[in-house]
Amino acid sequence: MAPLPRNTLQHFTHPKHSLTLFDSNTKYSCDGCKILGIGKRYHCPECDFDLHEYCGKCPMKLSSFFHPYHSLKLVNRKPQGERRLDRFCNVCCDSIEGLFYRCEVCDFDVHPLCTQLPETLRHALHQVHPLKLLGSTESGTCVICRGACNASSWRYRCIPCGFDIHIDCVTIQCEKRTTTDRGIPTYVPPSGFDGYAYGNPYYPSPLNMHHNYMPQPQHQNHGQVQTHHGGGRIGQVMFGLVKTLGTGVFSNMIFGTDLSSFFAT
Ligand SMILES: [Zn+2]
Ligand SMILES: [Zn+2]
Ligand SMILES: [Zn+2]
Ligand SMILES: [Zn+2]
Ligand SMILES: [Zn+2]
Ligand SMILES: [Zn+2]
Repeated sequence: MAPLPRNTLQHFTHPKHSLTLFDSNTKYSCDGCKILGIGKRYHCPECDFDLHEYCGKCPMKLSSFFHPYHSLKLVNRKPQGERRLDRFCNVCCDSIEGLFYRCEVCDFDVHPLCTQLPETLRHALHQVHPLKLLGSTESGTCVICRGACNASSWRYRCIPCGFDIHIDCVTIQCEKRTTTDRGIPTYVPPSGFDGYAYGNPYYPSPLNMHHNYMPQPQHQNHGQVQTHHGGGRIGQVMFGLVKTLGTGVFSNMIFGTDLSSFFAT
């Protein structure tokens, strides 16, 4: 067989035709992982079949900080109706449809795109330390939405300070406060966030951050099993991040600030 041209690939999720890299600012639903996307995708024009650029290229076996002891295997779910159980991503807790990575030994499942979340990031609300993506055994409270971070759920955390932000809250823009203090802008959680509908805006201070003096939130379903399909919570975040994945720009970004230039379409 002749070698495939550049930017073209043959993928096991679509054996009939080869897929060609295609760039468009229209939205699409990835026929691999079923999560929304925008921008570059591998496309079959005959079937209108799309794969995220990452879903088209991600390796069959992956070693990742998400699951350091075993390598993860790329698998494709059977279509709905031919399967008996629901699967959920161990990292973002949204349902898994289509392509995903699995460790059979540990029953650990994760969306391909979730494996591309940055391991550490800087956030405007906690500029003193980097936040690390981890599945903590401690429960906590997300400083953005004030929802619970349940024990064992994955979140961005500063371990020494016990500072938590949900994965899906990390791209929410915070409000800038201009101060006279050396001209360095400070940030507070967004007051317009709908999570505040039930209470007062939360302004972090060193005191209440360290003493866990935070009112308990009303909506506690974060970090538990969700039943969204495709356009679930992580879909929203990934939709924002997917264009930036693999470009190495995360290290320059301060999350919680205006990231529109990074996500510009
Ligand atoms: Zn995908
Ligand atoms: Zn096709
Ligand atoms: Zn996920
Ligand atoms: Zn394992
Ligand atoms: Zn949150
Ligand atoms: Zn810290």
